[in-house]
Amino acid sequence: MAKIYTDRDASLDPLRDKTIAVIGYGSQGRAQALNLRDSGLDVIVGLRPGKSWELAEKEGFKVYRVDEAVKRADVIMMLIPDMVQPEVWKNQVEPHLREGMTVDFAHGFTVHYGLIKPPEFVDVVMVAPKSPGAKVREEFLAGRGVPALVAVYQDYSGRALDTALAIAKGIGATRAGVIETTFKEETETDLIGEQTVLVGGLMELIKKGFETLVELGYQPEVAYFEVLNEAKLIMDLIWRYGITGMLERVSVTARYGGLTVGPKVIDDRVKENMKKAAERVRSGEFAREWVEEYRKGMPRLQKLLEDTRSHEIERVGKEMRRLLFGD
Ligand code: NDP
Ligand code: MG
Ligand code: MG
Repeated sequence: MAKIYTDRDASLDPLRDKTIAVIGYGSQGRAQALNLRDSGLDVIVGLRPGKSWELAEKEGFKVYRVDEAVKRADVIMMLIPDMVQPEVWKNQVEPHLREGMTVDFAHGFTVHYGLIKPPEFVDVVMVAPKSPGAKVREEFLAGRGVPALVAVYQDYSGRALDTALAIAKGIGATRAGVIETTFKEETETDLIGEQTVLVGGLMELIKKGFETLVELGYQPEVAYFEVLNEAKLIMDLIWRYGITGMLERVSVTARYGGLTVGPKVIDDRVKENMKKAAERVRSGEFAREWVEEYRKGMPRLQKLLEDTRSHEIERVGKEMRRLLFGD
């Protein structure tokens, strides 16, 4: 059974007399900086001059260049994009680290794949919210929190876990529940999950379902409502009530049809494909490919995005969403 921490297992004390530098003020950076400050902690922001800098200042933070923020802080939160982290780390973070500091990540990618190699004299922890940044802030303001994973990569002080739990508490995650994991497990499950199920799997399932209906001569608009719009409604049921709870809430015909035909469509070959994808993540092959693609300026990513943008489901979707949401 996983080790799960809630509010009463965590204290803000390890952060009380510390200065926290949140590096980055984007999706996670902004949400976590605001939540930590609202929790009564001392937060500064590290950035380069630009849009984020202006926003963070407008929202009342003292903003510094990254190296300056690191010099002034005890806890560093690396909340800039994963592919940008290695360079910023090398030039502006690592040279200014002092013994006993804590470095926190929201995803294990750069540390797990060796793109960042922290020195032995700091604590290295992770608090990874399992949610987009906007939700991290929204739930906090509503008096709730989003679940998160917490991990210790390096425990120089002997108190790294307490510091990580304090961060988790400060951003509101312990209100929901925080599961202890490792950098390896968080990184690999996150990548495998988004590739095979969340982003990759869902998108392909919906596109192929749409193509099937359209190729059989049904109207694209009808196909859109059937496989894309309703997917959210079914997912909401699964999210709230579990798979059986969803089955109890759809028609008996859908229940029977889904249970008998589902495994024929998403069959064992799909699982074999998932295992192959997982193997590429676990061996580091995917990370190497992605770092290389990023260095080249992401030509393949641009091309794939373009192809997706011109898929018929997107053309129809635009019309349908105008109808539904007035876009
Ligand atoms: P974002 O893409 O939102 O980060 C953008 C921020 O980083 C901006 O403030 C940007 O400033 C700043 N930035 C970019 N480059 C630099 C630089 N060279 N120097 C200084 N600041 C820079 O990142 P995310 O919040 O999406 O991701 C941050 C971390 O959180 C990642 O490790 C990610 O894996 C993890 N994570 C993200 C989740 C999410 O929902 N997005 C969910 C869970 C984890 P500027 O305006 O100047 O460009
Ligand atoms: Mg991810
Ligand atoms: Mg994820």
